[in-house]
Amino acid sequence: MKVLKFGGTSVGSINNIRKVKEIITDGNKKIVVLSAMSGTTNALVQISELIKNKQVNEAFQNIETLHEKYKLVLDELIEETSIKLDVTNYIDSVFDFLKSCTSKKHSELLYNKIVSQGELLSTYFFTKYLHQEGVNARLLPALDFMRIDKTNDPDDFYIQQNLQRIIDQALPADIYITQGFICLNAFGEIANLQRGGSDYTATIIGAVVKAEEVQIWTDIDGMHNNDPRFVENTHAISNLSFDEAAELAYFGAKILHPQTVMPAREANIPVRLKNTMDPESYGTLISKDFKGEGIKAIAAKDGITAIKIKSARMLLAHGFLKKVFEIFEKYETAIDMITTSEIAVSLTIDDDKNLNAIIDELEKFSTVEVDNQQSIICLVGHLVVRHHETHRLFQVLQDISVRMISYGGSNNNISLLVSSNDKITALKCLNAYIFDFATA
Ligand code: ADP
Ligand code: ASP
Ligand code: MG
Repeated sequence: MKVLKFGGTSVGSINNIRKVKEIITDGNKKIVVLSAMSGTTNALVQISELIKNKQVNEAFQNIETLHEKYKLVLDELIEETSIKLDVTNYIDSVFDFLKSCTSKKHSELLYNKIVSQGELLSTYFFTKYLHQEGVNARLLPALDFMRIDKTNDPDDFYIQQNLQRIIDQALPADIYITQGFICLNAFGEIANLQRGGSDYTATIIGAVVKAEEVQIWTDIDGMHNNDPRFVENTHAISNLSFDEAAELAYFGAKILHPQTVMPAREANIPVRLKNTMDPESYGTLISKDFKGEGIKAIAAKDGITAIKIKSARMLLAHGFLKKVFEIFEKYETAIDMITTSEIAVSLTIDDDKNLNAIIDELEKFSTVEVDNQQSIICLVGHLVVRHHETHRLFQVLQDISVRMISYGGSNNNISLLVSSNDKITALKCLNAYIFDFATA
């Protein structure tokens, strides 16, 4: 069985919804994971913000505007009277719920309930649309099986047991539809897998059902060699290893949620990235195999904080690094990059929730400098460090100001830290030196 995930744009217009139907009705049994229609989750986040700021009238207006959008989709997509009535009732109940939230006190749970509505809406009307078209499809509610544990990792045993149970209980179907992104937390409350989390839902499900393949269908023809939002003339990479794809996703390639590759890598399930708007194009196949050498792709991750910790003594004393790491461990704050000199250690974090407490503790035995708004630029490939073309990277350094370099830590990755203001220049420069040069 395959698991196919369709993202926001793929279910974001009538035309695309029809394309998704064509893609999935190939006669093979499958599980289909859907995101919310594009723009919906952002709109729901904004509604939740307005409620938090007690801007009730504005929240109401935004809810009405979103409701109108869904009524239009419904009018165009569903013609069959009894199905239309069902979908109208469902959509109305969702928007009544949202309106009822405007008088509630803001909480994380309320936010989670509000943002979950996008996937609930898209899966409901898509399943009903398939019924209208004579497709034997069943909706499997994600909240009946998808759960994370106290450390926010998927609870694989619970997911496996419950998914199997509800598939067994459901009437046989050719296509099972479920919501991406949403889940229950360890206390049974509505939660989610963070923004962009539907990709992660797909590989979690793929791993527990031992799928032959997971496909992520989106609005571009696979993983490109640089961020197409900032750099022109990027191209899709046909093959990536799990390790390479995991690095790119973790370091900012938006096409994949940062954790997506992990369940697939553990279960050795290939992940194929495909374009809903151009199903014939090859896309990208992510598997255990390494193909080719050298730098294959560049990605960038924003919102990074750099911390320079200088030892109060002249040289880094024995035990200094241990003390530093223990503080980050205590505050459960992951370190992404690290470099050391004789008297200082520089490192980066992307979660600055506990930054002040961390600095207070570090300052007990060192001087600390903090730089916000940094970006990590990550160069990913196979055997990148020893590859003969990698030296070109260093020519770039004359054109951009690099704050830190991490080189040699892994076979797959070289990372640079730059100010976020320099990110786009750095991406373009690296592209020119590494890829344009190679093809010139
Ligand atoms: P979906 O809604 O289908 O999940 P996303 O917007 O999350 O789609 O991801 C697809 C987008 O990711 C592309 O449209 C592209 O702009 C962006 N993107 C960023 N980096 C890359 C990359 N290296 N390769 C391909 N797409 C990328
Ligand atoms: N709808 C969610 C979001 O916009 C999840 C996803 O699209 O993957 O973040
Ligand atoms: Mg996405």
